[in-house]
This record gives sequence, C-alpha cells and structure tokens, in this order.
Amino acid sequence: MSRPEIEIRDLHKSFGDNHVLRGIDLEIAQGEVVCVIGPSGSGKSTLLRCVNLLEEPTKGQVVVGGTELTDPDVDIDAVRRRIGMVFQQFNLFPHLTVTENLTLPQRRVLRRDRAQAAKVAAENLERVGLTEKASAYPSSLSGGQQQRVAIARALAMGPEVMLFDEPTSALDPELVGDVLAVMRMLAQDGMTMMVVTHEMTFAREVADRVIFMDGGVIVEDGSPEQVITNPQHERTRHFLSRLL
Ligand code: ADP
Ligand code: MG
Repeated sequence: MSRPEIEIRDLHKSFGDNHVLRGIDLEIAQGEVVCVIGPSGSGKSTLLRCVNLLEEPTKGQVVVGGTELTDPDVDIDAVRRRIGMVFQQFNLFPHLTVTENLTLPQRRVLRRDRAQAAKVAAENLERVGLTEKASAYPSSLSGGQQQRVAIARALAMGPEVMLFDEPTSALDPELVGDVLAVMRMLAQDGMTMMVVTHEMTFAREVADRVIFMDGGVIVEDGSPEQVITNPQHERTRHFLSRLL
C-alpha cells in the first residue's frame, strides 16, 4: 500500500485545562474522502485545524504528504500551501472582485505573475461554474456562490488535500446542493478530502469513510454503510437519531 496522504498519531489538543482532542489516530489514503460527524463540541473543527496547524497540537504527530507538520523545524507556510481549507463562513475579501480573490493569494504566497494567476483563477472559476461572476464583488453573490468562490480560491493554490469545516451549514437550504455538487466533483477527480458535515446524504453517497467523533475521540470509523446505516455504538446511534 502506498504511503497515506494524512497520518495522525495519538493527537492531543488542550485549551488550558480543556482537554479537547484525547488521542486521535487516523490514516487517510491519497484520494480518499473522509466525512467527520459528531455532536457540537466534540472536537471536529479542532481536529481539522490541527491538520493544517491553525492549531498547534499539544501532543502527537500529524504527517501530511510525508512531511511531519509537528516537526519544530518544518516550514509551516510551505506545508499549508499543500492543504486547502474551506470554512463555514466563506471569508472572501469583500473589497476584491471574485477574480482578485483568487489571484491575490497565488501572487502573494506562490509568487505567480499576474498572467499566470489570472489563468489559474479562470480555470478554477470554470470548475465551480462561476465564470460569469469573475468581475463581481462577493456581496453581490448568493451564499452558495460565495462558498464556491472560496473553494475555487483554495483550489487555485494547487492543494494536495482539501479540508472542509461545515461548508454548507451557513447556507439557505436551496443553496446547499450546488456547493455539495462541487465537492462531489472534486471527490470524483481524486482529491484527498476531510469533510466535517451534517449532510448525511452527502456522507453516504460520496464518502469512502465516515468517522464519528464524541468527546475528543474517534468512536466509530468505517464505511458509510457501517457507520451511518449500521452503527455499532450507542453514542453513534443516539447522534444519528437526533439528525433525522
Ligand atoms: P466541534 O467542531 O466538534 O463543534 P470544536 O473543535 O470547535 O468542536 O470545539 C471543541 C472544544 O474546544 C469546545 O469545548 C470549544 O470550546 C473548545 N475550543 C475550540 N477552539 C478553541 C479555542 N481557540 N480556544 C479555546 N477553546 C477552544
Ligand atoms: Mg466545528
């Protein structure tokens, strides 16, 4: 078997005396799509944030693409370029057009020239179906369109891994489908993805694996069929029953 794209070993994270992650072990293969589910406060966002070092682990190892992020000598910026992240709130730059939102990080972080950044921006706007919004400002877009711009912005950096933290939770229900369709396309294109979501239909249809977290540990880890349809643990069953 080839090397996993993401390896997490005995990961712990505390905020003061709040011990949030209590020993997470997880391997994610290249091209695998893993949905992370679990109650509010169980540590899902903290786990994702430890995978791109938005949070510094208290203990344990995180390895992405063979680079140990938790090595004190690691070039964090170089690693972060390989990991795209999409948040519940889209975090677009409001004073920049859609194209400028996509070109600015490429130019600043990757040092691409104007023409190359614009070309990559156009390619990725096309991927998310928003070519016609290239010159628009974020405030003129729907929430679903803004989130697709945020995804295109992350993709324009050429990441090896994409992390999604409840990307559809802030959207009106009728806008959720377009964002999920873009994520489904990415999954089919072979992107390695970790997706925190409450969208069980998406998890069932798109995820290779589903992880149920509770109290800072992984309670259940298996295929969607195993975890969603036939959960083995009472805590998983209880959580799922409340979603329905
Ligand atoms: P989830 O995403 O599953 O809802 P989180 O990872 O956001 O859970 O939060 C888990 C716990 O960590 C909560 O108790 C939360 O208050 C705490 N927490 C998360 N981020 C911080 C932070 N930056 N500072 C202090 N406590 C935090
Ligand atoms: Mg969260």
